[in-house]
Amino acid sequence: AKKLGRDNFQFYTPAMNEEAMERVRIESALRCALERDEFVLHYQPQVDLASGEIVGMEALIRWQHPEMGMVAPDRFIGVAEETGLIVQIGAWVMREACRQNRAWHDAGLARLRVAVNLSARQFGATNLVADIRAVLAETGLAPGCLEIELTESLFMSDVSLAVELLHAMKALGVKLSIDDFGTGYSSLSYLSRFPIDVLKIDRSFVAAIARDSNDAAIVASIIALAHNLKLSVIAEGVETAEQLDYLRRRGCDQMQGYFFSRPLPAAEFEQLLRKQCRL
Ligand code: C2E
Ligand code: CA
Ligand code: CA
Ligand code: CA
Repeated sequence: AKKLGRDNFQFYTPAMNEEAMERVRIESALRCALERDEFVLHYQPQVDLASGEIVGMEALIRWQHPEMGMVAPDRFIGVAEETGLIVQIGAWVMREACRQNRAWHDAGLARLRVAVNLSARQFGATNLVADIRAVLAETGLAPGCLEIELTESLFMSDVSLAVELLHAMKALGVKLSIDDFGTGYSSLSYLSRFPIDVLKIDRSFVAAIARDSNDAAIVASIIALAHNLKLSVIAEGVETAEQLDYLRRRGCDQMQGYFFSRPLPAAEFEQLLRKQCRL
């Protein structure tokens, strides 16, 4: 850094500086958050469009910070990924989601599957498959009740490694889904090579169903593509009756979105489940 000429000095605007400070602040706070047990999972129901029943849920992390309050994942997942802390945080998410789901099974509630988001850093980490196996053994959750959500970008850097990892995960008996489907820049050819179970239609397409006939056509095409490949398909970000109606007419299998429910704290999600099965 000492050899830099005058012209190479970087001057930060107040805005950049603030942003950089915020990142540093978040990074050091994240390091404590795991120890202090400040993370919580909220659960958003996934509903079967034919039966109207809740068949699953997505676990979504929140950070209950003593001063900042409830922090949304968009504000800290990026920093966690850059610093590698996401590997530990992700391991916590996986364990907690499986533990909670097993506890609901033991309480006699519907046997749902729980979907967990996996970040690229976790995908590349050495012990991923062994860790998942250990969590399943420890919590006693049936492997088929765990679904792992992957994004297309995970596959692209090393396709043969991805194929190997996905098959290893699949061999554990867990379900695999592709999140935000349609937003990645990957080719469709991998769909036949990867042992995927579910496509999740990104909410940007769902949001435009009524506005934009091209986006509506994309949604219909993804549903048809999924079914031709014998995959099931779930639409995310469903907010209106109109969107729901369109998805149903096109044969979409499941939906997730504010129209049915926001992500809920565990206790509220449990109440919803108890109502559904009239316990
Ligand atoms: P995602 O995986 O695409 O999750 C769906 C996001 O859409 C969630 O935001 C959810 O609350 C929101 N959502 C659900 N229904 C609707 C709707 O009808 N309308 C709108 N506008 N939004 C809806 P959330 O919980 O803030 O999470 C944001 C992102 O943070 C997630 O996007 C995911 O990429 C990441 N994330 C959340 N939890 C985890 C985690 O445990 N691990 C990792 N690696 N990433 C996570
Ligand atoms: Ca997701
Ligand atoms: Ca998504
Ligand atoms: Ca997303």
